Amino acid sequence: MTFAEIGLHPAILKALTDSGYSEPTPVQTQAVPAALAGRDLLVSSQTGSGKTAAFMLPALHRFASEQRLPAAARTPVQERRPGPGRGHDRHRFQPAQPRMLVLTPTRELALQVTAATEKYGRQLNHVRAVAILGGMPYPKQMELLGRNPEILVATPGRLIDHMSSGKIDFSYLQVLVLDEADRMLDMGFIEDIERIVAATPTSRQTMLFSATLDGTVGELAQRMTRAALRIQVDAVSARHDNIEQRMHFVDDLAHKNRLLDHLLRDASIDQALVFTATKRDADTVSDRLNVAGLNAAALHGDMHQGARNRTLAAMRRGQVRILVATDVAARGIDVPTITHVFNYDLPKAAEDYVHRIGRTGRAGRSGLAISLVHHAEQFNVRKIERFTKQMIPVAVVVGHEPTRRLSANPRPAGKPAWKGGEKRSYGQPTGQPDSRFSKPSVPRRDGPPRVPYHESAKATHGGGRRTYGDR
Ligand code: AMP
Repeated sequence: MTFAEIGLHPAILKALTDSGYSEPTPVQTQAVPAALAGRDLLVSSQTGSGKTAAFMLPALHRFASEQRLPAAARTPVQERRPGPGRGHDRHRFQPAQPRMLVLTPTRELALQVTAATEKYGRQLNHVRAVAILGGMPYPKQMELLGRNPEILVATPGRLIDHMSSGKIDFSYLQVLVLDEADRMLDMGFIEDIERIVAATPTSRQTMLFSATLDGTVGELAQRMTRAALRIQVDAVSARHDNIEQRMHFVDDLAHKNRLLDHLLRDASIDQALVFTATKRDADTVSDRLNVAGLNAAALHGDMHQGARNRTLAAMRRGQVRILVATDVAARGIDVPTITHVFNYDLPKAAEDYVHRIGRTGRAGRSGLAISLVHHAEQFNVRKIERFTKQMIPVAVVVGHEPTRRLSANPRPAGKPAWKGGEKRSYGQPTGQPDSRFSKPSVPRRDGPPRVPYHESAKATHGGGRRTYGDR
């Protein structure tokens, strides 16, 4: 099915052609027609699947097609009657009355959704979208709300602030979207979300997007929607098809740093994203890379929003080659020229691994995800492999081999890798030597059996004392 066959408004079709979208992605094929028909949606899909357009295109179509706009809602706030009272009170803003609200877990994702909305709605000059974010100065936000935009994209905390001070009135809200709902719940936004939803009309259309629809997210989804259509896009395997994964074992922090430096000097890297576990490490690694002559910048939650935006803008313009980031800061980053993702530290949750590597291989391009793994973290690797149902091949760079040798196959035979069985190909080449590396990867062919996690940890950390890493 094409976008035209789906029946989208011609102005939106034009914007999609201008954006170079020739056909809908699988999640769009399922979600857009149902949303156009007014259905509530519960969509399980990942970033990179085209989910933003899946909820934004039907909403824009609705706004483009509706002749009569709610009169009160569409008058810019400044042109409306001043509020009652005298002096300062007279200039109190009347509340903004949006028709659509998109809630996102992070500021970066909110900005990205806003940018995508501007792209898809470029031909619709009466549809305005603004982002309401924590960290943005209040006067600026008041000015944005004063434009009485049709679409608000917001992080829950800051939105609640504005709702509490009467700056937003949801009486005219037609469409509510929860983007990355599971993330918002992980970040503790459940009460804020409940409060926001309670302030919106029950007649609204609700679309909830989440990596998972189980547990608390499922319960929330059930409460918020009516006869919702469930859409499951098996994005994990689809996404991984164009993202090659591999891991390198490292002995210690110094080895890890040397290997990272070496890998980052690969000329085939257009731009790279390096994930660290802590904000401090993001700064330290970025500083170290800059000293080593690599063009790097850090991105994390301790930075002011302005600095974060400038860093991301510099990355988009290609002025920064390597971005060293923490999970939360990097969530939702959509820079199509990121060719490589490095896990300097493995994420704690397997889902985060999927989110991280999804920062490369955007919009159908190919990408490479490389994890630097200490032997004591093999347990973590198994968790990730079970989650993604994919095995991560081990690679070795000549001259940067780990001193510890690896076993051929520590898992019971007869079960697939993600169930702990299939042979890991330590003894096999992991593929053709990769031209993306200055030296080819040469996998280990022999070695003693791998040590179980707890023993390995003991051996490495001297009876439980952590000596590896510096956090
Ligand atoms: P999202 O999952 O919304 O973060 O989108 C991932 C990327 O896919 C973004 O760079 C979008 O611009 C791009 N994209 C979304 N829909 C399409 C489409 N139908 N064709 C090509 N690219 C798309």
